[in-house]
Amino acid sequence: MNYLIKIETKKLNIKRVIITAVFFLAFISFLAFIIVRNISYNSISKSKDNLNTSLKNNNSENNEKYNIQNSLIVDIESNNDYNFSSLNSDELSRFDSIYKKSDPKRIFLTFDDGPTTQVTPFILDLLKAENIKATFFVLGSRVELNPDLIKREYDEGHFIANHGYSHKYSSIYTSTDTVLNEYNKTNDLIKNAIGNPNYNSLVFRFPGGSIGGPYDTLKKGAKQKLREQGIASVDWNALTGDAEGIKTKEALLQRFYDTLNGQSSVVLLMHDAADKILTYEVLPDIISYCRSNGYEFKNMYDIILR
Ligand SMILES: [Zn+2]
Repeated sequence: MNYLIKIETKKLNIKRVIITAVFFLAFISFLAFIIVRNISYNSISKSKDNLNTSLKNNNSENNEKYNIQNSLIVDIESNNDYNFSSLNSDELSRFDSIYKKSDPKRIFLTFDDGPTTQVTPFILDLLKAENIKATFFVLGSRVELNPDLIKREYDEGHFIANHGYSHKYSSIYTSTDTVLNEYNKTNDLIKNAIGNPNYNSLVFRFPGGSIGGPYDTLKKGAKQKLREQGIASVDWNALTGDAEGIKTKEALLQRFYDTLNGQSSVVLLMHDAADKILTYEVLPDIISYCRSNGYEFKNMYDIILR
């Protein structure tokens, strides 16, 4: 009897040990599962965060790249679209009516007699920061000296127009042919500087303007000759007086306000010759005045490619 009870107790003890061991193992496995799960979750969420951050960076980088490419595409497209060998009568007549009333108001910033290393790069930096495309009436003799600046003007979406080669009245106004010769010589220099054989400036500004002075009759004849070849000539209807010996920013600004005189389509004459740093210095005031008075900034591409 005692023997039997002993065997029963032994069996019970073994059963208990086995059950305890099973529970213990199950508990350990459960703990191990929880620990492993936490570790892997943390590392997954960390790498997820890293992935998100890098995706975000990539996206903003891509957006930036996209925007830059987009703005380059716009410029390059307008440059590529402009490959005319002459202007037709419609395009020429748009230049004839460039000063007529405009709604919305518009202003063409124009710079003559450059490019020069002393002034042009500062003006280009400012125009770039303000996202304004201007028109540069360049002199062939200065294109020869600073072809890189012409290339920069062109690449940054500005219109390269033609102001002749010498700017010496006694040379350029010898005859109607000498006007045309200076136009052609400068046109070739511009093509070479920008590396685009299809580019023709096609917009000319007579040194000293196309009207008046001792060469008035000759200039009228030359204007007609240019027109017959599909080349427009453009003067101005407002100025800062930067070629009139004005010595202060305030006086330049006042001359601008006086000549602007409420006009709604404005071709503003300025200069980027070597001694015109004051033109660069007054430009931010002119730009902010135009912006706060509802003027849109245009250049000659807007007339030709509209
Ligand atoms: Zn000039």
